[in-house]
Formats: sequence, C-alpha cells, structure tokens
Amino acid sequence: MVTQLNFMAPAVELKAIENLWFQLSNTACNLRCSHCFLDCSTDKKDKKFLSLDKIKNSLDIAKKNGLKEIYLTGGEPLLHPDLNTILRLGLKAANVTVLTNGTLLNDKKVRFLRQIENEHNNEIIFRVSIDHYTQEKNDVLRGRGVFRKTLTGIENLIRYGFNPILSIVNVWNEDEKSLKEGFAKLLKSIDFEVEEINFKIIPPIKTGAFSRNFSKYNENEIVTNEELKKNKAQKFDCKNSRIVANDGVYACPMLVNDHRGKVGTSLGDVSKSAFLETGICYTCVQQKKGLMNNNWET
Ligand code: SF4
Ligand code: SF4
Repeated sequence: MVTQLNFMAPAVELKAIENLWFQLSNTACNLRCSHCFLDCSTDKKDKKFLSLDKIKNSLDIAKKNGLKEIYLTGGEPLLHPDLNTILRLGLKAANVTVLTNGTLLNDKKVRFLRQIENEHNNEIIFRVSIDHYTQEKNDVLRGRGVFRKTLTGIENLIRYGFNPILSIVNVWNEDEKSLKEGFAKLLKSIDFEVEEINFKIIPPIKTGAFSRNFSKYNENEIVTNEELKKNKAQKFDCKNSRIVANDGVYACPMLVNDHRGKVGTSLGDVSKSAFLETGICYTCVQQKKGLMNNNWET
C-alpha cells in the first residue's frame, strides 16, 4: 500500500484470529482521561453500542479460525446494556478479558459477575486501568476521585475471587521495577499480593487526547521495511488478533476507529494483511512485544 508519505508500508500477515476483540461501547466512557488515545468521552453521541448479532456472527467465524481469547473494550465496556448476555456468549467459547476503568465495579455488580463466571468453565479476566500507585499521579490523568473508586473496584474483584491485571499507561516513563514495587505496596494494604502476571505496563499511545495534552507522533516515527525485518519474530497483536467495531473490523485494538487500520466490514471478509503505516505501529515496534493482548502465550 502506498501511503501519504509515498513509501510502501510494511505489512504483517494474520496467522489466525486467536484473540478476538470487541469494541462494545464505541468511544463512550464514564471518564474523560487526559491521555486517552481513543479520545473517549462522556458525550451521549458516542453511545453506539455493538449489536448482539454482530457479536454472535463474529464469534462463529472466529471459532472456525483459531479463537483462543476474547476481549471486551470500549470506551468503557461495562456501559453496554447487554454486557451480561455478551459475557455468557463469550464464556461458552473462551476466556473473556474485560478492559475496564474499574469505577463501575461495585459490590453488587461484581457479585453478579462472579455468578456468571461460575456458570461456565472459562474465566472472566479483568484488566483494570490504573496508571499510578499514587492518587496524585493517577488522578491528574484520570480525574479527581478516580483513584479511590478504581481501588474500590479492585477490592471488590478480589473479594469475589477474581485476580485482576493492572493496566498501567506509563505516561511519565518511570522505571518499571519501581512502578511494580509501588503498586505491590499499595495492593498489599488491601491484602492483594501481586505477581508478574498482574501487570500490563504499556507506553502511551500518542493519538487522541494524549496528542492534544502531551505530545504527538512526528513524521520520523514510522515503521520501515528494514525495521520490520529486524523485528520479524515480534509478537505484534495484528498477527493473531482482530477487533470488531460498529463500523467494521480493524487490525488491532490500538487502530480501532483509525481508517488506516480498517481491514474489512465484517470478520468474514477481512484482509489478512495489516499495513504498518501509523505512528502507533512505530510504538509497537519499539516495544518488541504485543501491546494489547494478555502477556501469556496464545
Ligand atoms: S483511557 Fe479508558 S477510562 Fe479513560 S477515557 Fe479512555 S476509555 Fe475511558
Ligand atoms: S499498531 Fe501494532 S498491532 Fe496494530 S497494526 Fe500496527 S504494528 Fe500491528
């Protein structure tokens, strides 16, 4: 594909749809974080929920194409009015990871989610966004009072036997070891012993609100064919994932709603090639690991 910069963008081929993502709530969220790469908001116009029919059809197709894990994201996926039905549909096929800001995980909700999981052999895995172990550094990004609400959500998950993954955007580029130590100390105070599996630390993606409030990609932050060759063995999410959104299917969750990442209108007709022509792809290549899928092997 010839891009605006007039060079052939390198491509990654899809091997199997091992990781099937659903953008359940479009960009609707109950928060408005200053670093949100999708520019999600509390605006009612963003509330275009993914239909159950689309979810069922996509699951049927993915099951025939190597499905191993399902992910629910948004915006805030807990806003979807049919979340419980979607979880039940998903759990019949695979483990379901819910990417949430944690603020809506009250006791009653989590107790109910525990019941739903108990009805199935597969697990619900919660990935809860919390960017720092100090209230000050978290809330400057996520909004006043969010740190407390998120911690309450995490406490509720633990009370009902879930083992949440902390999803941390390392906005200040802090040393990962000290970030983990800070979180370990914080969570020990609520009797939660974190392990390596409980961390998902990613760098900021410089689009959306982040690009307005912090910095954006410059024209040199682009993946070349040489760079891709050097990183050939890398576990790019686009090698084994697709995300279904309201208006089509995208190569990976970072590119959802970015026309350059669109690979088809439905999962049945997706192109196998993802062209690495965005600054976000550059962030992926620098990381040398899949950014969004769970860390374990799929
Ligand atoms: S970063 Fe997450 S919680 Fe914050 S506005 Fe975006 S989707 Fe919502
Ligand atoms: S952002 Fe990353 S996972 Fe997505 S298409 Fe680019 S390289 Fe692949």
